[in-house]
Amino acid sequence: MTWVTDFAAGNKDQKDLLGGKGANLAEMTNLGLPVPPGFTISTEACRAYLAEGGDPAGLQDEIAERLTALETTMGRRLGDDPDPLLVSVRSGAKFSMPGMMETVLNVGLNDASVLGLAARSSDERFAYDSYRRLVQMFGGTVMGVESEHFSDALDALKAERGTEADLDLDADDLRNLVETFKAIIREHTGQEFPQDPRQQLDQAIHAVFNSWNTDRAVLYRRQERIPEDLGTAVNVQAMVFGNGGMTSGSGVAFTRDPASGDQGVYGDYLQNAQGEDVVAGIRNTVSLAEFEKIDKKSHDELLEIMAVLEKHYRDMCDIEFTVEEGKLWMLQTRVGKRTPEAAFRIAVHMVDEGLIDMDEAVRRVTGAQLASLMFPRFDTTAERTLLAKGMNASPGAAVGRAVFDWRTAVEWAERGEDVILVRKETSPEDLHGMVVAQGILTSRGGKTSHAAVVARGMGRTCVCGAEALDVDTKAGQFTVRGGITVREGDVISIDGSTGEVFAGAVPVTPSAVVRHFEGEEVAGDPLVEAVARIVAHADQTRRMQVRTNADTGEDALRARRFGAQGIGLCRTEHMFLGDRRQLVEDLIVAEDAAGQGEALAALLPRQRGDFEEILTAMDGLPVTIRLIDPPLHEFLPDITELSVSLALADTKGHRKKHERKLLDAVQRLHEQNPMLGLRGVRLGIVIPGLFEMQARAILEAAAACVRKGGDPHPEIMVPLVGSVRELDLIKGRIEEVAAEVQSELGQQIDFKIGTMIELPRAALTADEIARSAEFFSFGTNDLTQMTWGFSRDDVEASFFSTYIEQGVFGISPFETLDVEGVGQLVRTAVERGRGANPDIHLGVCGEHGGDPHSIHFFDEVGLDYVSCSPFRVPIARLEAARASL
Ligand code: ADP
Ligand code: MG
Ligand code: MG
Repeated sequence: MTWVTDFAAGNKDQKDLLGGKGANLAEMTNLGLPVPPGFTISTEACRAYLAEGGDPAGLQDEIAERLTALETTMGRRLGDDPDPLLVSVRSGAKFSMPGMMETVLNVGLNDASVLGLAARSSDERFAYDSYRRLVQMFGGTVMGVESEHFSDALDALKAERGTEADLDLDADDLRNLVETFKAIIREHTGQEFPQDPRQQLDQAIHAVFNSWNTDRAVLYRRQERIPEDLGTAVNVQAMVFGNGGMTSGSGVAFTRDPASGDQGVYGDYLQNAQGEDVVAGIRNTVSLAEFEKIDKKSHDELLEIMAVLEKHYRDMCDIEFTVEEGKLWMLQTRVGKRTPEAAFRIAVHMVDEGLIDMDEAVRRVTGAQLASLMFPRFDTTAERTLLAKGMNASPGAAVGRAVFDWRTAVEWAERGEDVILVRKETSPEDLHGMVVAQGILTSRGGKTSHAAVVARGMGRTCVCGAEALDVDTKAGQFTVRGGITVREGDVISIDGSTGEVFAGAVPVTPSAVVRHFEGEEVAGDPLVEAVARIVAHADQTRRMQVRTNADTGEDALRARRFGAQGIGLCRTEHMFLGDRRQLVEDLIVAEDAAGQGEALAALLPRQRGDFEEILTAMDGLPVTIRLIDPPLHEFLPDITELSVSLALADTKGHRKKHERKLLDAVQRLHEQNPMLGLRGVRLGIVIPGLFEMQARAILEAAAACVRKGGDPHPEIMVPLVGSVRELDLIKGRIEEVAAEVQSELGQQIDFKIGTMIELPRAALTADEIARSAEFFSFGTNDLTQMTWGFSRDDVEASFFSTYIEQGVFGISPFETLDVEGVGQLVRTAVERGRGANPDIHLGVCGEHGGDPHSIHFFDEVGLDYVSCSPFRVPIARLEAARASL
């Protein structure tokens, strides 16, 4: 077993084994870029360590061997007194989890080697600055002391010196700070900061392994759907120093703007700084243009390297670098995270630059990104009170109550409030609050700060570095230069696309992308152009069709503009509501067939009108109409209200014959568990004439459309079938009605009869059902309820959050299809259905039809179409293409 790989021996395709950071460090090393040497301990070693609760056999030997090799290369020994080799110990999983796991810098420093470092660099301040950083990071991440204890001590020292800048602390201050930090460790852990360099290294490696399982890392993985069992790699790398004076520094850069997607490099640089200083927003960074003035040689080399990397990866890269006394070092690169807007724009730019083709452009954007571009924006014409302007770190228009700590954010969000989390800067501890907030606002840090990176990753709106805000988290308020104070609970609005912060709730308007889909001419908007090009290509690429769920002509028209290729689910429930409720009551209390017939006859023309409107809106395209599905009592008055009103009527001496009969009916129809009761096909079988009336209305409507020169394609869908016998009973009656209508009107009508597959029994006997059905539509909402045995309406509020926390599922099975369980039923039904009836047409009409992950599954099992709400149609068009690529 090889647990450890030298940077020079790996490459970028080994992310599984070396993690993203390790694989890319290896790639850069082999591209000949200036990367400090080092080695990567594999994710396999991490998994073995976590499983065995200790180092797997052979790991220690391999680390020792690689370390010796590194020492030879560098000509120094780890933590050697006169001339120490120092290393960083860096986490790096397959998928980037920014700020989630641990990194320790300057490993190898101790009370003796710090003197060696000071002598070597002839810079005592630098040596003690490095040492205090090690003790601070080691104490926090390895020994588990809360990071505030250290930052509070640092702040106290600065206050004592009358300064706000770390740089004003001198060597003596920092030497004392090391002792203070050591005392803090002693006080909180009862242990000493370890002086032995090898012990430091081992403990740091183990801390990185263990950081895979911290609460916040687990939460982040669930959010991002990163598998739990990957583990992290550990990179041990020779240190280079950006904190040795003004000719040194540290920076981060993007090869394009990660917020807008604009072409041209983008970055932040900080002189005399190490590691996280840049992104922590401790001091204000300078742009790359400024960097060029400070150190032209390093700047030019960086730009050359960025060009090399972008060509090599054929994608926007983000980069971490350090300059040590005028020499540039590359410390990290990866394909950069970006806003949805940037994703679309970068993809088409890269097509135009000849770096990628259109298929690749479609692969590079997601339905989720498109969805977020379809969110409303702030109305620029509304009256607004601008409080401040920060950086547009992650787009969107968020309105909510200001809260100043993550606990309050979680508490308020749980009781249904929209909140905006306001912080000076965020740290990984704030993640819980960021997850539940509508938006995140910080007063410090740039587009590469923790807040910005995490918000972008989660699609949360974020404005960062709004320096005009004086945020006082302890008091729970911020003040704006000029005097306005916003307290906890006050409503604010933040615009992540412009960086603006407003007082109060600013009204929002539809996005330009939506206006484009609506058919409006949105000329000259580069984002709209990018989206249009990519979605057009997706349409040429995808195998599955995309239909919509629409119950009215208006929805159908809208969905059609959004690109729907028919209706996959037209619910008919609403056709029994409103002023028609009375007719339903009449139907139910009718004493004989004649009474029932009368009620149905009154419903018929009304429903025919509804269907005509829908079929006209979808002219030329298929329209799947579901016969009435929910339990009848949903259309009747509430049992308690009815009893009360009857009792009152009685005491007043009135006799309300209708109401009494109604109450009888309601009592008779009352069910303990309506979801599993008299509904769907069962209604059609039990109440004669009901489905026949609906079928007649559909067919007569179709005939009317044809007479007007239209081209209707109705598909009559029978819900909740569990046995082929049920379908056959209803099918026979519909065919009779059809024969009648056709002879009455002297007109041939083209229509199909099919069924929903939403009961496990239907899925399992799909071969029998398929012999009687022309199409199946998977009703995955019910299929999920019936397979898990829980009702969505009841469980989402009661125990789902606990289930998600406890890891029973990472995401609600009503949002993303449970592929392992419910998915097997879908797969089985597809196979058996097609086996028995090769011509059968297959689609899905549950909520999952608009969910990206589920769409990929439906493509894989070979459905002919997905159907989703009108708004999600463009998203499904894109994802269906991505699934087939
Ligand atoms: P993260 O995954 O949180 O970005 P990193 O492992 O990239 O953590 O480390 C954070 C920062 O620490 C880097 O961006 C870099 O500035 C600094 N750093 C890491 N290793 C070294 C090193 N060998 N020499 C100098 N700085 C380093
Ligand atoms: Mg990094
Ligand atoms: Mg259903």
